[in-house]
Amino acid sequence: YEDRDGKIWMDGKLVEWRDANVHFLTHALHYASAVFEGERCYNGKIFKGREHSQRLIDSARMLDMELPWTVDQIEEAKYATLAANGFKDAYIRVLAWRGAGEEMGVAALGNPVRMAIAVWEWGAYYGDAKWQGAKLDIAKWKRPSPETIPTAAKASGLYMICTMSKHAAMEKGCSDALFYDYRGYVAEATGANIFFVKDGEIHTPDPDCILNGITRQTVIKMAEDMGYKVHVRRILPEELPTFDECWLTGTAAEVTPVGQIGEHSYTVGPVTRAIAEAYEALVRA
Ligand code: PMP
Repeated sequence: YEDRDGKIWMDGKLVEWRDANVHFLTHALHYASAVFEGERCYNGKIFKGREHSQRLIDSARMLDMELPWTVDQIEEAKYATLAANGFKDAYIRVLAWRGAGEEMGVAALGNPVRMAIAVWEWGAYYGDAKWQGAKLDIAKWKRPSPETIPTAAKASGLYMICTMSKHAAMEKGCSDALFYDYRGYVAEATGANIFFVKDGEIHTPDPDCILNGITRQTVIKMAEDMGYKVHVRRILPEELPTFDECWLTGTAAEVTPVGQIGEHSYTVGPVTRAIAEAYEALVRA
């Protein structure tokens, strides 16, 4: 990804893709003091762009980090990056982090807070097999308590267990891993939220220690508007075999059907199809 053509927005300037570097003593690189967003632009319009920019600012605050940019400025920067790269349909990655300071150590109050934006073309998150249903492994790691780490933030530090769990899943031929949380309830995947269907009704975990995804919130509202009953509640692993359908939601994943979790199988059924199609229509509306 490093050596290619394109422009990356860094701290207010567009720089060459290959020159978008940071110093080795960057605080975030040593202590994970970084927050980020993943967004998608469809037909020249960023879906829920302002919500993503606000979440970035909120995530930063949860890490005691004040971004020197407003929602309006972040929106402008994202569109400037899309324009500089000539994209109308693209994935957008925004990262804000603590840079290098006068001294190197855990404390970083005087360090600059930096931000950069890259955009690239990205199709289906789980590849071409999307409609066959993704296969999920059950992660060995647990989504932590909100008293352990700020789980509501989209903070880089939370992704260490995601990378490890996704690698373990891929080694078993799965496309992703499903986390249980610190109490043992079904939580989310490494980069997406999870939904289930039983008897035509939708069930999804409480967002009390998972990332309350923007796609998740969009899909809950959309499903209710379509007349589905949506139950937001604690879900036990013992319930996994009782569900008929399952899907994941996320900016990158969009609505991706799930065909298998561990040894339990699900059909890519009518509710999943209706939700996926409605989401597809909504993002392009
Ligand atoms: N959970 C995790 C851990 C994620 O990384 C993501 C992707 N941002 C999601 C859920 C889905 O969030 P969103 O719908 O806002 O992209």
